[in-house]
Amino acid sequence: MIQTQGITKSFGNLQVLKGIDLTINKGEVVAIVGPSGAGKTTLLQIIGTLDTPDNGKLFINETETGKLSEKELAAFRNKNIGFVFQFHQLLPEFTALENVMIPALIAREKASDAERRAKEILDFMKLSDRMTHKPAELSGGEKQRVAVARALINNPAVILADEPSGSLDTKNKEELHSLFFELRDQMHQTFVIVTHDEQLAANTDRVIHIKDGVVLL
Ligand code: ATP
Repeated sequence: MIQTQGITKSFGNLQVLKGIDLTINKGEVVAIVGPSGAGKTTLLQIIGTLDTPDNGKLFINETETGKLSEKELAAFRNKNIGFVFQFHQLLPEFTALENVMIPALIAREKASDAERRAKEILDFMKLSDRMTHKPAELSGGEKQRVAVARALINNPAVILADEPSGSLDTKNKEELHSLFFELRDQMHQTFVIVTHDEQLAANTDRVIHIKDGVVLL
């Protein structure tokens, strides 16, 4: 479960988030929508513990993230949160397989175990024949599926996706959407998806509207 209590965030004089209270249950697939500049990405970065709020609290499962040291937080993030960000993509010098293995290696998993599981996940993603390709040798849809595989390798409770289908054509978009729901149904992960895609938003369990720094009820 993800819970935010009174989250605020300003950049200089601009108050982007003005008190966000949210509860997202385990296994929910929610979409965060709202006008450009509403603070969606800022909120997702805070939920992902990549940025800290000025005020307020964030709980992921039972952990209050603000109480963790920097080192504890990095380990917590790597274990519990998977990211699928459009502009936070694959490392170009590594193969698809190596990219997927990285979070497991950071979590100090044995390389042979990390490789075995990365192969299983890539197989599940129908990418078995693309494992040795580098990102530049993959299509947009394939790159996005590798990014999802990488987000899954540590079996995190929460997957955060920022405009995951932004650069994809309709067919790949539909495939990515069904993949999220398949994963939720099989692995009970919680998905928080920032999107402008009304079709994706309409298919989620719940749509959270953000406008002028608050959640519209
Ligand atoms: P979009 O739909 O266009 O991606 P968004 O709702 O995701 O928008 P954010 O990216 O959260 O919006 O940005 C909210 C506001 O905060 C914007 O006005 C943006 O310019 C500003 N902002 C975001 N990050 C920073 C930063 N690091 N420094 C200064 N201003 C920032």
